[in-house]
Amino acid sequence: PFDVLVVGGGPAGAAAAIYAARKGLTTGVVADKFGGQVAETVGIENFISVSKTEGPKLVANLESHVRDYDVDIMDNQRGISLSQDGGFNVELESGAHLQSQSIILATGARWREMNVPGEQAYRGKGVAYCPHCDGPLFKGKRVAVIGGGNSGIEAAIDLANIVEHVTVLEFDSKLRADEVLQAKAQSMGNITIIKQAMTTEVLGDGNRVTGLQYTDRATNESHYVELAGIFVQIGLIPNTEWLKGVVDLTERGEVIVDAKGQTSIPGVYAAGDMTNSPFKQIIIAMGSGATASLGAFDYLIRQTEP
Ligand code: FAD
Repeated sequence: PFDVLVVGGGPAGAAAAIYAARKGLTTGVVADKFGGQVAETVGIENFISVSKTEGPKLVANLESHVRDYDVDIMDNQRGISLSQDGGFNVELESGAHLQSQSIILATGARWREMNVPGEQAYRGKGVAYCPHCDGPLFKGKRVAVIGGGNSGIEAAIDLANIVEHVTVLEFDSKLRADEVLQAKAQSMGNITIIKQAMTTEVLGDGNRVTGLQYTDRATNESHYVELAGIFVQIGLIPNTEWLKGVVDLTERGEVIVDAKGQTSIPGVYAAGDMTNSPFKQIIIAMGSGATASLGAFDYLIRQTEP
């Protein structure tokens, strides 16, 4: 059995594995797809000390750093259940079972998509999901934010400081964002909010986004908006379906962790985008992976030998 089994191979899982291995612990990483969301990212400019890198390059660096240590990486393997039987047991989709004295959950999250024509084709070519990451790429341009909840209006306010103009498209007849955010957005001068708007298509010239088409749900008329970027802010879904009823989750499905990254089960830790951490970024995921790993070490040194 492992001392530490990390489930998830994104930045949080990689950091957790390195910290565990450096404590001399027998460490395994099981990942559906090593690299996680970073693998899908084009430019990364906010990974501190690295001015500019690309997703696949950072993934290769993550993997080679983990491989500097004696870590058992099990890629293309999905965890489907976690149970406790003295130690812990993770069942994989393949039918295999892995045993470990402690567990670090790091299965990340995924952005909810609009599921309209053009969205996939222009992903990373104008269709974006992370304003902190990609906002500066649209300096001086016109963009849209899809979604009028807190994350959508926060994104609009953030982007309005950088871009020329922001159009917010909200499906409902009212915004769900906090009043104070709505008031701030109204006061900015370069944010237009359109309600009852159903985005129907992302349009582009083959290389980049050029606009979008939406239907006004009140009149059923279709409208075109010319723009260079579309920020989709309709939710980040934690990959925790397999943990329901096992560890405590928030109502949004995020794993609740304490300051040491411990979940509601002693010996089970969690890190990164799957947790109730308020901000979801690579550098934050790595920090929380390190925290969870040191937390697991603290836990293990207090266990009596089985
Ligand atoms: P993830 O990266 O989501 O990794 C999760 C891991 O768990 C993956 O290996 C996955 O395959 C695995 N997994 C999932 N379910 C299971 C399962 N059941 N069993 C086994 N393994 C499983 N952040 C920045 O800081 N800067 C940026 O420029 C930036 N740009 C981004 C651009 C895009 C398009 C996206 C989508 C995100 C971007 N982010 C950026 C956010 C950043 O990628 C995430 O915050 C970060 O990857 C979270 O790391 P994580 O390890 O928690 O999760």
